[in-house]
Amino acid sequence: MARYTGPLCRLCRAEQKKLFLKGDRCKSDKCPINRKRAMPGKDPKARTGKRSDYGVQLREKQKLKRMYGMLEKQFRIFFDRALRMSGITGENLIGLLERRLDNVVYRMHFAVNRNQARQIVQHGHILVNGKHVNIPSYLVKAGDVIEVKENSKKLGVVKDAMKELSKSGTYPWLNVDADALKGTFVSIPHRADVTDNIDIKEQLVVELYSK
Ligand code: SF4
Repeated sequence: MARYTGPLCRLCRAEQKKLFLKGDRCKSDKCPINRKRAMPGKDPKARTGKRSDYGVQLREKQKLKRMYGMLEKQFRIFFDRALRMSGITGENLIGLLERRLDNVVYRMHFAVNRNQARQIVQHGHILVNGKHVNIPSYLVKAGDVIEVKENSKKLGVVKDAMKELSKSGTYPWLNVDADALKGTFVSIPHRADVTDNIDIKEQLVVELYSK
């Protein structure tokens, strides 16, 4: 599946919002958003007009899509799946995005960001219930056990990423054994638990695609 390969900070600058696409490094003062860098290709002194409803909905969708490192086609497939599920479509969408294997690997701190998690999965370093899975968009189910392959446990990127676990802890829907580099996806998270998306208004994404 195709993916965006350009500079990650450019995506945040386009949204004028920190999307934390580089993980821990985003806390640095060098973050272009902290330094109030303008949108790509825009004069920093140019006045910005009021956004239309469509513009607001579009930006919300772009933010969510970029946070999870997806391109339009695949994101739309996820949305259509969320729409067919019972319950609230926006919450279903967040639940599906959280179930992506690359996202779960990132949340378990086996990678510093979703981009790196995607690579770790694609390069075959991850087992799901003891079997190799190298598809980043694979949907993890409640009760699935995710682990770093035995031969990959000494990878520097994984060791570095695990340092973050001791600093920031884990998420309520995950159970991680840092020593074994293994974790269980206990349940699909409730929307309220996914707090780093708290200012994403997924309802606007639903409105955009419902036009
Ligand atoms: Fe975004 Fe992180 Fe770059 Fe800041 S450092 S612009 S949050 S990717």
